[in-house]
Amino acid sequence: MWNSVFDELDRAHVRSYNEVLEQRQDEEAHQTATSKEQSLVEDCILKLYKLNGEPTLTRQKHIKLLIKSLTNLNENCESLDSSRPWLCYWIVHSLKILGESLDEDIYDRIVGFLAKCQSPEGGFGGGPGQFPHLASTYAAINALCTIGTRRAYQVIDRKSLARFLSSLHAGDGSFSLHLEGEVDIRGGYCAIAVAKLTNVYTPEMFKGTESWISKCQTWEGGFGGCPGMEAHGGYTYCGFAGLVLLGKTDLCHLKSLLRWIVNKQMRLEGGFEGRTNKLVDACYSFWQGGALPLINAVLTKQETVFNSNYWLFNQEALQEYLLICCQHPHGGFLDKPKKCWDIYHTCYALSGLSIAQHSPKPLIIGSRNLNLVEVVHPVYNLVLPSVENALKYFNSLPIPD
Ligand SMILES: [Zn+2]
Repeated sequence: MWNSVFDELDRAHVRSYNEVLEQRQDEEAHQTATSKEQSLVEDCILKLYKLNGEPTLTRQKHIKLLIKSLTNLNENCESLDSSRPWLCYWIVHSLKILGESLDEDIYDRIVGFLAKCQSPEGGFGGGPGQFPHLASTYAAINALCTIGTRRAYQVIDRKSLARFLSSLHAGDGSFSLHLEGEVDIRGGYCAIAVAKLTNVYTPEMFKGTESWISKCQTWEGGFGGCPGMEAHGGYTYCGFAGLVLLGKTDLCHLKSLLRWIVNKQMRLEGGFEGRTNKLVDACYSFWQGGALPLINAVLTKQETVFNSNYWLFNQEALQEYLLICCQHPHGGFLDKPKKCWDIYHTCYALSGLSIAQHSPKPLIIGSRNLNLVEVVHPVYNLVLPSVENALKYFNSLPIPD
């Protein structure tokens, strides 16, 4: 018992200012544009860590801001007019992570709006009357499954969804994001995730997809958007989560993926960067951090000796970055200090915070009462009960022909 108590104390150690300071980048006496930018971010973050405040999740401020954002968005969001199901998903999911559910009539209004985004051809567009797109389809279905009422589930026309997904599948196994649209690894992941969640998946629909995805793994170890592109956190999550859903992780070179991903956690900042030599960014807390539980699961299956209670990254340092450096004083999360808050970064910072807390042995920095958030499912990025309830509902229905 004492061992586990000491283990817990040891693991819950938060880095001192001097320890953080020691992690400053080494410019090797040669400054570049990149190293100057990196230094500026480090200066800013060191100032915040020096204040040495207790890392605290300002839960009520985030909840208030997210609820307000359902009906009031500022002009910066104009460009998201074709991503409105995403706004619904980011908001309802963020609230769930914070342990907050909305009144039934508000959920009903969101469900009614998402129903209008569904295309007669199947799938969902970025707004009412817009062309169906795989990314907005994923966002709409995730939002509906987060809401999780019978009415929300019944909005999804599974027959036309299955037709829509099949229509985007190319002969080489890749998926285009919309009819005659661009092809990249996000398409494959979005298609697999919604097909599995709503039980419309058939092997025919995803013929060759695992081998196309595996071709996107680069020499660095992460995945690019298409074969030959640079490794990137978002694409890596899509590629690996896609292979997990297809049961084909054996097609991934796991050791190089693990080496790449753990090296994307920044030494001083504690958060993740998306690509080599880029700056820290809170959204990669999920895109990179979310892949670690999946890697853990594969390693646990493969190696009988591997039995880790924690993920293979510094979970405390990521929580410190998110709670000390990325919360806006009025609510919402930022990409990094000095940036504006936005709903996208709020969603993925909270999703990453959940991943960082919920290893097999939970690890929460600061006050557990104040900081504990709900568990997210790392494959779908939905809170666990939303995944369980959706699978239970849709798996009781027949797969459409
Ligand atoms: Zn970002």
